[in-house]
Amino acid sequence: MTGQNATSQDTQTQESQAVQSDRPERELYLDAAASDAVPASVIEAMTPFLTEGYGNPSSVHASGKTAARALDAARASFATDLGAHAGDVIFTSGGTEADNLAVKGIALAQIRLEQETRAAAATASTPASASPHSPHSPAHRILISAVEHPAVAQSAQWLHDFFDFEVVRIPVDAQAHIDLDALSREARRGATLACIMMANNEVGTIEPVSRAVRICHDATVPVHVDAVQAAGTIPVDFRGLDADTLAVSGHKFGAPKGLGALLTRSRVVIEPIVSGGGQERGLRSGTPNVAGAIALAVALHEACAGMEERDAHLAASRDALIKAICEAVPGATLTGDPVNRLPGHASFTFPNVNGEALLVDLDARGIEVSSGSACAIGRHEAPGTLLAMGLSETEAKSALRFSFREPLHHTDIRRIAQALRASMTALHAM
Ligand code: PLP
Repeated sequence: MTGQNATSQDTQTQESQAVQSDRPERELYLDAAASDAVPASVIEAMTPFLTEGYGNPSSVHASGKTAARALDAARASFATDLGAHAGDVIFTSGGTEADNLAVKGIALAQIRLEQETRAAAATASTPASASPHSPHSPAHRILISAVEHPAVAQSAQWLHDFFDFEVVRIPVDAQAHIDLDALSREARRGATLACIMMANNEVGTIEPVSRAVRICHDATVPVHVDAVQAAGTIPVDFRGLDADTLAVSGHKFGAPKGLGALLTRSRVVIEPIVSGGGQERGLRSGTPNVAGAIALAVALHEACAGMEERDAHLAASRDALIKAICEAVPGATLTGDPVNRLPGHASFTFPNVNGEALLVDLDARGIEVSSGSACAIGRHEAPGTLLAMGLSETEAKSALRFSFREPLHHTDIRRIAQALRASMTALHAM
């Protein structure tokens, strides 16, 4: 090494030490609603099915049978933890695919039924107008709450764009609860499907899904429930809820990203949207991800064990965080239901500031949060839930979400509140 090189390397080292010493001692990750770490126990459980039990579960040889048995066991355990039967579970690549399969699959099954009805009518020489289904009939309506995730809302929009379905958005109140009277009115007018999320990703409000399901079923409208933010965090009982389909996503409760499931009752007819070899009851073709299914089952089981006690601790630290933030930043306003909300979820709007700018400043202070839903980040869009709740675009764009799956220490809460205050001051917002 030349002397000059040594000198420049020393300078670089000093610089990187200076940068490091400016950085806070450790990052505080408060974006669990977007994604979270995979525990070592989950990795340990899934790894043997990548390195040893790697057979294709559809193969008839011994390795294939080993994989198939593991897949069956994972499916049974996963189903039990969601109050479902093993036969209800369709493994997918995540929550988005599960939502797409429910919304598009149920509507496409309706279209297939109409084609078959028309074909039968043609064979029997009945006039085509005798068909009970035509565009804009009740069979071509989809009801969605106004705060659904884009995985649901965009799937409904796709049905409008390609098949002329009418998409009816059911309004929510100022805390993001679905308007059950409006739901009841629209359900009685008829629909192919209603979609109601169990817990909102942006503001944490837990929706009255049980009542919504009863209202829709009284009007013979099947219900899809997006439980992506709920599963593994609050109790989910698929059969008890009597939903027709329900979507979950593994990376929200400790499984790797790209894993999820749709739970379906056999009474619901679904047209597959991924065609191929007919795996997963013909509803989701593709070689099953055996290691992924094991990760889903183990992560969910661990998340459900001791949930009640953990949720009580989470809710206590959530409420302490809300108090500390509201004290540190005058004008900070909690969004969503203050009580009936996800236990590790606190969301706010802030005065005189853009949420993205605040997020970036907080990040530089080692506090990692989100400005709403992960999907909207970088697009500078106002979070849709907040607009549906009646907030102005400026208010909605000032939103930040703090989400966590482990209770926060009181020193962390103090640090977050102090950092927020410092960021607001640095951004001339207070
Ligand atoms: N539904 C809700 C409510 C979500 O919050 C998300 C992701 O954040 C999804 C669906 C999509 O799930 P995934 O990331 O597994 O595709």
